[in-house]
Amino acid sequence: MISKLPNASVSIFAKMTQLAIENNAVNLAQGFPDFPCPPRLQELLSIASQRGFNQYSAMPGYLPLREWIAQHLESTYHVKIDPIHEITISAGATQGLFSIISAFVGTNDKVIVFEPAYDSYGPAIVLQGGIPIYIRMREPEFDIPWDELEIVLRTQKIKMIMVNNPHNPTGTIWTMQDFIRLSDLCRDQNIILLTDEVYDSMVYDHQYHISGLQLKNYFEHIISCFSFGKTLHNTGWKIGYNIASEALTKEIRKVHQFMIFSVHYPSQVAIAEFLQENPNFIQEIKNFYEQKRNDFYSIMDTSKFHFLPTKASYFSLAKVPDAKLNTMDYAVQLCKEKAVATIPLSAFYHDHYDPHLIRFCFAKKNETMISAAQNLIN
Ligand code: PMP
Ligand code: GLN
Repeated sequence: MISKLPNASVSIFAKMTQLAIENNAVNLAQGFPDFPCPPRLQELLSIASQRGFNQYSAMPGYLPLREWIAQHLESTYHVKIDPIHEITISAGATQGLFSIISAFVGTNDKVIVFEPAYDSYGPAIVLQGGIPIYIRMREPEFDIPWDELEIVLRTQKIKMIMVNNPHNPTGTIWTMQDFIRLSDLCRDQNIILLTDEVYDSMVYDHQYHISGLQLKNYFEHIISCFSFGKTLHNTGWKIGYNIASEALTKEIRKVHQFMIFSVHYPSQVAIAEFLQENPNFIQEIKNFYEQKRNDFYSIMDTSKFHFLPTKASYFSLAKVPDAKLNTMDYAVQLCKEKAVATIPLSAFYHDHYDPHLIRFCFAKKNETMISAAQNLIN
């Protein structure tokens, strides 16, 4: 049998979660909250099913949810998005990203991916016959190497650039100047800019998220993906959405309709009603997670880890004290011997480049973080 993904194995998130279960370890590896999503949201899900929302929803998603999203984007990012033609509800950002890549990337099309990168990007490109062009962000700040990017854009024909902002796993954010610089470089070649913004509501220290959608002069070439899983503490519901101009959305939906047609209907209804009832919930997420991050740093103060400051997302990177060990082995050892599961940063590089950093997720109850800290000193 010829594998279409010969280099792929079980995702690092599934692998480390399994290892955490086997070793009865505290799971600070996979990015999901260990506290419940709002009880009212759970109740609305059950009510939606009882009210009969159990068959297919409209192909692009439940219209009141799309209308809520349009209003939210207008009040947050001052952009006018048409809920009928420019918003598609996806089964999490993962399926949104996959259908977008399938819609636009064909055989030998090159896609720039900045590393460290979320694990689904490369395989989604390769499955379409595309070629990921990996560009490593520069340590220790994980900046974009603009000079290198300029050379790639000057010398190669590029179809798409993927930007994850806020960034998993480094917690860095893009400024408007970064986006302007990028769009200026892309303009002549009509490159599609795909922004993965699943952590858009989690930017701290009085800084703001800049959405790709705010690049008004480049809007016709931008597609942005979001996820409710992060903002509503329900990663298992797998509801996200993508935004693009009508012309791009038409192409995305051609794939979406054959990949999934529509996504879980009662979840869409429950989310729309919950957000209408709780108009400030998403704005408050920022304060909630900023507090979590601060609690995490003070709880972990007793550990030997030195954390790199994180500006966004619910992840923080820490230096590995023993740089002689391969970080994958180090993370496995930490899980088995200290009962704390983390993610080695090397898993976010296609060539397993190893910057000797591990990722901790702080979307956890404080008691979970305290258990982890105790395990680390014992
Ligand atoms: N992009 C990034 C950067 C992520 O961290 C994740 C996972 N949370 C996703 C996309 C996928 O999101 P979803 O769970 O909504 O599919
Ligand atoms: N996004 C989550 C993370 O980075 C995990 C998603 C998954 O398990 N595929 O940890």
